[in-house]
Formats: sequence, C-alpha cells, structure tokens
Amino acid sequence: MTTQAICKTEATGSDVVAGLLGAGFNGEIHRPGDAQYDVLRQSIVPGFDSRPLVVVEAYSRSDIQAAVRTARQYGLPLAVQATGHGTRVPADGGILLRTSAMTSVLVDPQRKVAKVGPGTRWGAVIDAAGQFGLAPLAGSSRDVGVTGYTLGGGVGWLARKYGFAADSVIRAEVITADGRVVTTSADEHPELFWAIRGGSGNFGIVTSLEFRLYSVPQVHSGIVYFGIDNAAETLKFYRDWSATIPNELSTAILLTRLPDSGTRALAIKVTYAGEAELAEHLLKPLFEVAGPVLAGELKTTPFGESAMGGTPARYLDLVDTLADDLLDELAKLPSATVEIRHWGGAMAHPGPGAGPVGHREATYSLIINEEVPELSAVLRNSGRTFLNFLADPANAKSAYCEADLARLRSVKRAYDPDNFFHLNHNIKP
Ligand SMILES: Cc1cc2nc3c(=O)[nH]c(=O)nc-3n(C[C@H](O)[C@H](O)[C@H](O)COP(=O)(O)OP(=O)(O)OC[C@H]3O[C@@H](n4cnc5c(N)ncnc54)[C@H](O)[C@@H]3O)c2cc1C
Repeated sequence: MTTQAICKTEATGSDVVAGLLGAGFNGEIHRPGDAQYDVLRQSIVPGFDSRPLVVVEAYSRSDIQAAVRTARQYGLPLAVQATGHGTRVPADGGILLRTSAMTSVLVDPQRKVAKVGPGTRWGAVIDAAGQFGLAPLAGSSRDVGVTGYTLGGGVGWLARKYGFAADSVIRAEVITADGRVVTTSADEHPELFWAIRGGSGNFGIVTSLEFRLYSVPQVHSGIVYFGIDNAAETLKFYRDWSATIPNELSTAILLTRLPDSGTRALAIKVTYAGEAELAEHLLKPLFEVAGPVLAGELKTTPFGESAMGGTPARYLDLVDTLADDLLDELAKLPSATVEIRHWGGAMAHPGPGAGPVGHREATYSLIINEEVPELSAVLRNSGRTFLNFLADPANAKSAYCEADLARLRSVKRAYDPDNFFHLNHNIKP
C-alpha cells in the first residue's frame, strides 16, 4: 500500500477546521473553549487529560475519511474514541475523532448476525438481539463500546462456550491509513481481517462490524458472597473443581467486600448458559466448601439482565496453574480486590482462521486492583496479558505470542507503514 507522505506542519486549530471542511467533514467540530470540548475529550480513566487541537464528532463514514485525510495533510496524530472505556493515550495537539454518534444495530435473526455502527454500545445490541432469544458475546458492562471491545479480543460471560468476541466477527468495513474504505472478511483482505480480530485499532478505523449472535434465551447467573475464613481452602478447591466443569459454566472467584457492610468476603461469580437445576448441581460442591451464603443469589434471567462488573487491573497475569502458596497468601490479603477468572473451553479452541487474541491457552486470568508488594515472593508473573485488560498501552506486545506479534507487524507494514494509527495499544510496523 502507498500512503500519502506525512507533511508535519505547525497547524493551528483554524487550519485544521478549514482542512476538515475542505475535505467534506459534516459532523461537529469542538475547539478548546467550546462547551463540548471538555466533555468529549474525557476518557473514563481517572486523571486522564487529553488536549487535542480539535475534537471532531463524525456522523458518517465520509466524515471519518475527511478526518483521516485532514490529519495526514497536516501531519497530526489522530485518536479514535467511541465511549472512552479504553482510551489511555492522549491525543495532545492532534485530532480526537469521536464515533459516539454513529450508533446503529441491525439484527438478522435468521442468520443470527448483528451489524453495528462504530459508536454502538453493548447494551443496544443486547436489547435488540434479546428480542429474538439471541445474545452477543458482550462483557461485564452494557456501556462498553462494541467495536473497541471486540477488536481488543472481548472476553465475556459466554466466552467458555462460544469464544472471544473477536472470534465471532464475520465482516468489517475499515478506513485505512490512506483514507480508503476497505471491506474485510475471510475472503476479502484476509490478512487485515485476521489482524483486526484481536489487534485492536492499529490497522484502521472500523466503520461497521458484523458478528455472530447465539441462541441464549436465558442464563442462570449472579454473585454469591461467603465468609473469608475458609478462603484458602475454597480457592484451592476452586482450582481443582474448575478443571472438571462444562463450557456452559463460566465462573470467577473473588476476594472482595460485602456490598453493604464492606466486610471482607469471598465471592463467586457465575453465568450458566442452561437450566438452573444443572447449574446448582454443578456448583454444589464448591458452595459447600465456601460455607454459608452471606449475601447474593443466582437467578434465571434473560442474558441481557445478567451483566456483572469486573475488577480494574493494576496487576494482571494469565496463568496456567495456581500454586498453593500463592492462594494461601491471596487469602490473607486484608484489603485488595482479587479476581481469578476461569478461562478455557472455546476460548482455547477457536477453530481455524482465528485472529491474534493472545495466550488463549491460559487457564485463569488473575487480576488485583492495587499494588501488593507483600505478594512479590509468590506472584510468578508469566508476562502474558490480555489487551482489553491491559492498563499500560506501551506493553501491547505482552498480549500476543511471538509468532502472532511478527504477523501483526507485517500486516501493520502493509496497511499502516507510517504508524499513523499509534494513539492506542500500539503495534509498531
Ligand atoms: C467498566 C468496564 C468493563 C469492561 N469489561 C470488559 C469485559 O468484560 N471484557 C473485555 O474484554 N473487556 C472489558 N473492558 C475493556 C474494554 O473492552 C476496552 O477498554 C475497550 O477498548 C473499550 O472499547 P470502547 O470503544 O468502549 O472504548 P474507547 O475508549 O472508545 O476505545 C478504546 C480503543 O478502542 C479502539 N477503537 C475504538 N473504536 C474503534 C474503531 N471504530 N476503529 C478502530 N479502533 C477503535 C481504539 O484503539 C481506542 O483507543 C471493560 C472496560 C471497562 C471500563
């Protein structure tokens, strides 16, 4: 691919506005001092302070093309943002392109496929698909953007049964670094199709995404809280028990606090894509070891009512085993929130042609919400991460195996040789 040379200039906000209008941009343009500028430059990361030259809200694919062409014309960096749930790199002095207004959901219940615009949040897809007894592979929050989540892999509560959200993508429309519109699928631009299904926003701006939905009319799910006294034994039992359960059952075990009193507690998160009786039967031995239930319950609901929050990752590792000494020390922690989530199932066996979502073979993700120096002797950091949970955007390579990273860099060289799309979890050409 040939790309227009980047000509770096000292462009002013007025130059960029003129450039955008000249390129046919029809959306909203916000400059410092405008009422919406300070609202739209935020991400949900506390203390994030991006200072773009302009924030532009696109209403159409041609607005996005105009923004890309203008950024290239003036040699400006450009960042893409739908919701701000994953924006960690500021667009200082550049163009912040918001896709939030480009929301649309089309559900084809016969084909079990949804097609969304780039600003769409999961809640809209869950509601639209739920009318047909279908579910998307959404995660812990209805507010997260479908596109950013899916391009970063996307691990939800149906992942053990149906895989990562990225593995269910069947087609995308992408605006590449030279402003072209490209449709990509298994048959069209297959290398680009491979790369976007886990390689995040490194290869272009996705303007529409098509993906599979699944027949999941109801789930049995919720969070159940137990006392902390038996935590070490329960964690060890969980490790052994989780190796025996079917892919319909997704679980996580947490060291946390009771929602009302704040008392230290052990919690178990559950989503079972099937009948309540079977779920209760499978969970019985684990709950028996955990002890009397202090709060919470499992309920049978439509999939759309079952979302459970996650734990922000200060420490993140993907592990194959959970050693006794680690579990003993975790159980003694006085305050940090620890979430151990069971992976495996379809996540590890995606079928042929799957994208670069890394470290699929991991058995658990281990997340701790704060630095805990006293754990240094027992945390055996594998160096493996998952892009969507990775707080440090400079460490994107830790989310991929070596061979996939090399292939991602080769696709980057083909589609974005100048690394125009670099304000993200960046993969260098
Ligand atoms: C409360 C919360 C819950 C979460 N739960 C889960 C979960 O259960 N499972 C999981 O896997 N992840 C989860 N995440 C992580 C989330 O998936 C990522 O942060 C994701 O990047 C968010 O996408 P977004 O579009 O909402 O965010 P944004 O901040 O809008 O975008 C984040 C990045 O996505 C890329 N991007 C967004 N739109 C486009 C586009 N149209 N074209 C190209 N690139 C684009 C860009 O690189 C951008 O920097 C959660 C995050 C939060 C804050």
